[in-house]
Amino acid sequence: MELKIPPINGIYYQWQKGDTFDSVAAEFETDPVEILGWGGNKFDLTNPQVEPGSYVMVPDGKRAFQQWIVPIIPRGAAGVSTGMYGGGACPGGYEGGAYGTGSFIWPTVNHTISGNDYWSGHLALDIGAALGEPISASDSGVIVFAGWSTGGYGNAVAIDHGNGYQTLYAHLNSVSVRCGQSVSQGQNIGYGGSTGNSTGPHLHFEIRFQGGFVSPWYVLPAP
Ligand SMILES: [Zn+2]
Repeated sequence: MELKIPPINGIYYQWQKGDTFDSVAAEFETDPVEILGWGGNKFDLTNPQVEPGSYVMVPDGKRAFQQWIVPIIPRGAAGVSTGMYGGGACPGGYEGGAYGTGSFIWPTVNHTISGNDYWSGHLALDIGAALGEPISASDSGVIVFAGWSTGGYGNAVAIDHGNGYQTLYAHLNSVSVRCGQSVSQGQNIGYGGSTGNSTGPHLHFEIRFQGGFVSPWYVLPAP
């Protein structure tokens, strides 16, 4: 079986009616020649045509980083509004609570990727997680988001580890923690699912450090 993982950095773009190679290249800050020349796109170079709705690889294409719509919420600071971010938004202002150990564990039983790996277009790992599978805290900390999130994440949990790190767990079927609660590393925080913008059960797992995104591969133990 042939792997479908693109061997280069880039973006799979769904072609829209009215798109041209020039317009798509401009949108992703690359050159039309790069798109036309990528062999995997299998264009007839004598008369390249793309059907609207089909996917095209844009090598080295750049798009705005996927940013979680809820900003970093340090535990002691004011939270975010439920109106803007969904019912899971926490009011914030938590004093004390659990602190991270400084090391992280896999939040899932399986240590396999299911969907997107971490790359410039997806600042998270999609980890294999069955519907209803227990999801656990990757490190100890305080819950700063717990419940429905607007913007594609579905039911989500975010933990502030108190050491600059936060972790985010999205597409959960259900959430088993509440705002401001302290959790220990390995403690259950919810159950795997496919809520929000998701095509099947998996865990979308993000690690942030002082507002930036960190590849989970750098901090998780080897699978
Ligand atoms: Zn994801």
